[in-house]
Amino acid sequence: MNNSGNDLEDIRKVIYESQSIAISGHTSPDGDAIGACAALGMSLSLMGKDVRILLETYSDSFDVIPVGGLVSHSAEDGYVPQLYIAVDCGDVERLGEFRSIFDKAENTVNIDHHKSNTFFAKTNFVDSISSSSSEIIFRLIDGHYQFNDDIAAALYAGIVFDTGGFRHTSTGAGTLKTASRLLEYDFNFNNIYNSLFYSRSFRAAKIMGVALSKLSEHFDGKVVASFVNYDDMLQCGANSDDVSEISGYLKSIKNTDVSVFIYEKKKGIFKVSMRSENGIDVAKVAVMFGGGGHEKAAGFTIERNIESVMNETLEKVGEQIRESMS
Ligand code: AMP
Ligand code: MN
Ligand code: MN
Repeated sequence: MNNSGNDLEDIRKVIYESQSIAISGHTSPDGDAIGACAALGMSLSLMGKDVRILLETYSDSFDVIPVGGLVSHSAEDGYVPQLYIAVDCGDVERLGEFRSIFDKAENTVNIDHHKSNTFFAKTNFVDSISSSSSEIIFRLIDGHYQFNDDIAAALYAGIVFDTGGFRHTSTGAGTLKTASRLLEYDFNFNNIYNSLFYSRSFRAAKIMGVALSKLSEHFDGKVVASFVNYDDMLQCGANSDDVSEISGYLKSIKNTDVSVFIYEKKKGIFKVSMRSENGIDVAKVAVMFGGGGHEKAAGFTIERNIESVMNETLEKVGEQIRESMS
């Protein structure tokens, strides 16, 4: 379902009219942001466009995603593309340091699947039913632009990542049809799957241990929460990638409807990561604190002390639980 006024043909028209094109995803890029940007970038580059993919540095577990040598982690002063395409990015702030380039670009496009998307570009295609931005990029490219093995691998990685390996309820018939079409190409899907889900750093294992040692239960065990502070992160040598699995793991604890995991990114700055099921909408909680996401996976960043971040988050989660029961 497309919740916006624009369709994919509008986007193809804008692309047709532009020669220099910047493509980028959200800060702390994940498998979907990287895969979707890379696939679109490689395809447009085969068409002869001057493409630059702008992404923050990311975890080496995503190095399995082909990017065609098009990714830059910074842009030189004065770089102004004709067109800026934001992918997998719910609002303009989530472009991070690349926002100034978006603001200067002559034309802008926003392609996304986040329910909380703010329609911040001139042309917007937001489909919150799609499992991933990569699934939308497949629809944009398929039958219109060139395809090759690397493009298929990048899209497959993005879809596998955002569906948790075809586990999440966002996985639809269309998702599996797309995956099936992609597997007609020649790439190592087994290696992609294993790199994304079954390999972790020693640091990630250690910080998971710290989080598990501080577990707490709330609302009759419906909510499981934990946190790690900056010193824990330093002691384990952990970074934001190393904690990315923790909230999902907490949600796997039996009878848990919502998990809340908080880590201290920088001294006094906390990232809250929530996962949910049974109709409890954690995106609503995230939006209350200036963040966003999906019904079942959402987050926000906040500057406050850890006790009040945890208490206020749990209070709002509790309201959502009551709302879901009423
Ligand atoms: P995370 O908990 O960081 O894995 O994020 C879960 C979902 O929430 C992802 O779809 C993110 O895009 C979204 N999200 C996380 N943090 C923020 C934020 N600060 N602002 C907007 N969306 C966010
Ligand atoms: Mn993403
Ligand atoms: Mn996504």
